[in-house]
Amino acid sequence: MSVVPALEHVQALAPYQPGKPIEELAREYGLDPASIIKLASNENPLGCSGRVREALGQAAGALQGRYPDANGFDLKEALAARYQVPQNWITLGNGSNDLLELASLALLDSRRSAVYSAHAFVVYRLATQARGARHIEVPTRHYGHDLPAMLQAVADDTRLLFIANPNNPTGTHVPAAEVDHFLETAWQRHGHGLTVLIDEAYNEYLEPGAQFDSTEWVRRYPNLIVTRTFSKAYGLAGLRVGYALAQPDLTDMLNRVRQPFNVNVLAQLAARVALDDTDFLIRTHALNHEGREQLQQGFAALGLDYVPSHTNFVLVRVGDAPRVHEHLLRQGVIVRPVAADGLPEHLRVTVGLAHENARLLEALGAALAA
Ligand SMILES: *Cc1c(COP(=O)(O)O)cnc(C)c1O
Repeated sequence: MSVVPALEHVQALAPYQPGKPIEELAREYGLDPASIIKLASNENPLGCSGRVREALGQAAGALQGRYPDANGFDLKEALAARYQVPQNWITLGNGSNDLLELASLALLDSRRSAVYSAHAFVVYRLATQARGARHIEVPTRHYGHDLPAMLQAVADDTRLLFIANPNNPTGTHVPAAEVDHFLETAWQRHGHGLTVLIDEAYNEYLEPGAQFDSTEWVRRYPNLIVTRTFSKAYGLAGLRVGYALAQPDLTDMLNRVRQPFNVNVLAQLAARVALDDTDFLIRTHALNHEGREQLQQGFAALGLDYVPSHTNFVLVRVGDAPRVHEHLLRQGVIVRPVAADGLPEHLRVTVGLAHENARLLEALGAALAA
C-alpha cells in the first residue's frame, strides 16, 4: 500500500502498458537501434503524409508564443465540411484517448457503471476506474463484441457503454446492420439515460464493403458519440489529435470537462492537412491490405491460429506468449503481449512494411522452434 493518500480506486489502477520503445530495447539488449523493428503500437509504417511534414516545417519556423485556438476553428471547419455536420457537433481531443476520458468525466462517478466488452481497448477500463465507477465487462463471442449481451448487461446505474469497432486488440468488426439494430434497441429501451460511445480508431482500414457512414447514426441517435483518430491511418500518433461527433447537447457536456487548450497548434494544423491528403490514405490502405495478407498467410504457414483482422494488426495465438515474446525481443523484433487483456496465449502484431513483416515471420518461426 502506498503512503500517498490517493483515492482507493486510483490506488487500484493498473497503469497502461505501452509498446516497448525501440531505444529502450536497444539499451536493454545491447542492440543497434537501426536493426530493430517495432510492430507493437499500431502505428503507420509509412510515417505521415509528406504534405503534413512540409506544413509542420513551415509552421515550426513561424511559431508564435501564443496558445492554440481553444475551439480549433480551422480543423473543426474542415471536419464539419467532411461530415456535413455543424461545428457544435464536434469535439477535438488530445488523441481520441482524451475523448474517452471526457465521456467518462461527464457521465461517470462512484454511483454509476459503464459497460464494455472483454478483450476490448484497455482505456475503457482505465477511464471507468479512474472515476470510481463500477465495471460491467461482457464476455466476447468469437473474440468479438457480443452486442445483444452487452445491451442485456446494462444495469439501472449504467450511463455509458463503450464499443470499439473495429476492436483492439482482437481486430474484429461488427457489421453495420448489427450496430444499427443495437443502437435502435438501446435508444428505444434507455433513451437519453444511456450514452453509447463507438470508438472507430481503425475505421479507415476497413474494406470498402464494410465502410459505413456512421455520422448517419449520430444524426439519428441523440445518445451516440462516435470517436475517430489521426493516430492510426493518418500516421499522426506522435502529435495526439482525435475528434468526437455527437449531437450538440452531448458535445456541450464533453466540452465542459475538456481542458481549454487540449490540442496544440501543430497538431491542429497537421490534422487539417492530413484530412485532405487522400492519396496518402489510399496508399496506407493498400499497403496495409497486402501486409495483413502477408502476416495472416505467414501465421497459417507456421500452423498458428489468428483472428481474421479488419485493422492494421493481427492477433495471433502462439501458446507460451511470454517465452515467444522474449525470443522475438532478443532478435530485435518488438510486438505486443496481450495477457493484460485476458489473452495470455496471444501476441498482437502490427502490420509493417513488407520486409518488416517478413522479418517478423522469420523471427517468429525461429522462436517457435527454439
Ligand atoms: C489507438 C486507439 C485509440 C486511441 O488512440 P489515440 O492515439 O489516443 O487517438 C482509441 N481506441 C482504440 C481502440 C485504439 O486502438
